[in-house]
Amino acid sequence: MHINQALAARIKAESRDAFAFMRQIRRDLHTHPELSGDESWTAAYLANALDKLGLEVHRNIGGHGLFADLVTDPSKPMAAFRVDMDALPIAEVNKVPYRSKFPGIMHACGHDAHSAIGVATAAIMTKLSNEIPGNLRFIFQPEEEQITGALRMIHAGVLTRPVPKAIFGLHVAPLPAGNIAWTDGLFLAGFDHYLASISPKEDASLSYPDLDAVAKRCCRAIQHFNQWQLPETWQEMQDFWQLLKSPPKTLQDFIVYDASLSDENPEAWYGQFGIGVKAATPHLRRAALGRIRAALSRICKLAQTNYHIEPVGSMMDMQNDAQLVQSVLPALKDSLGESHLIHLKAAFPFNCEDFAYYTKEIPGAMFWLGAGNPEEKKFAILHTPDFDIDESSLVTGTTAISNILIEALNLN
Ligand SMILES: [Zn+2]
Repeated sequence: MHINQALAARIKAESRDAFAFMRQIRRDLHTHPELSGDESWTAAYLANALDKLGLEVHRNIGGHGLFADLVTDPSKPMAAFRVDMDALPIAEVNKVPYRSKFPGIMHACGHDAHSAIGVATAAIMTKLSNEIPGNLRFIFQPEEEQITGALRMIHAGVLTRPVPKAIFGLHVAPLPAGNIAWTDGLFLAGFDHYLASISPKEDASLSYPDLDAVAKRCCRAIQHFNQWQLPETWQEMQDFWQLLKSPPKTLQDFIVYDASLSDENPEAWYGQFGIGVKAATPHLRRAALGRIRAALSRICKLAQTNYHIEPVGSMMDMQNDAQLVQSVLPALKDSLGESHLIHLKAAFPFNCEDFAYYTKEIPGAMFWLGAGNPEEKKFAILHTPDFDIDESSLVTGTTAISNILIEALNLN
């Protein structure tokens, strides 16, 4: 059974009517950004907004996390929508009335917008609760930027009592507002992080500046492996999305290499440097490590040094559940119009998401929410100091996710 047209039309109208409400939430949060683990004001603000809807709010879940359930019939299944709450250590350069009031902290990844969409969707679903074919859980997750929040919330039980049959997420993207991009496979890369250190061979006399010079040479060699560079301008981004629609093989099986000495305090490194590898599968990431080792062996032999590589962190890749995506797609098409849906056939390779942990537990899917408007100089390029969004994307996001949630409840 598919979502009925009358309900879809009401969702659309309610989402439009909620524009001022969610813009206010987004701007309040934008003005008041909090770093991962510090989201206490944000949590209190969102809990208060959910309280006002009459939902029972569960607080302090895995840190400053929250969730609220809309229960229409406990015998029916539940679907979940997860949004994130935290900001970044970036100094905002936008001169807008809602600019960050905290120097050096900024919502530069749109989690303010995601949270606003979370509250608005909860509000609309509550209003239409008589017509919702099941139950909904709205999850507000802290610490996404540190990729620690999702696991903490899962351990705190957010996917139990009951176990949701599916979970969904949205992330703003530098695509034109009004559009949603989807994939039924890999959505984002997995990531392995290493610490490498260079030391002198027993009989070699090398000073720390010498070791740092070797380390720098190693970093350059690793960086050189990259076939794809992170697009930096709006136009480069659009060209890259275009490429993801019919990707060459090298982009389907991408590996993104990163290696750098700390910029902040170079003297304190003494031949140590960080290595990051992003790729679609653990297999590809292991292959990349082999390639890195080969390069380091070559360089270090010539420089009479040894190298040591130690793993320091890892994040799994994020796969959308293909069947789930395909089954909610008709509702998405009906609600936004087919011309506003962008089918990506490869993952955006430069980012990771701890949403991956939820999708290991239950079927899940994430979608890109177009939030850019180049005419208004709102480019929505993630993690940049002039990051801003076209706020009409809040309406698109709320409409889309409401339809997706209801369609998921309709599935057998
Ligand atoms: Zn983000």
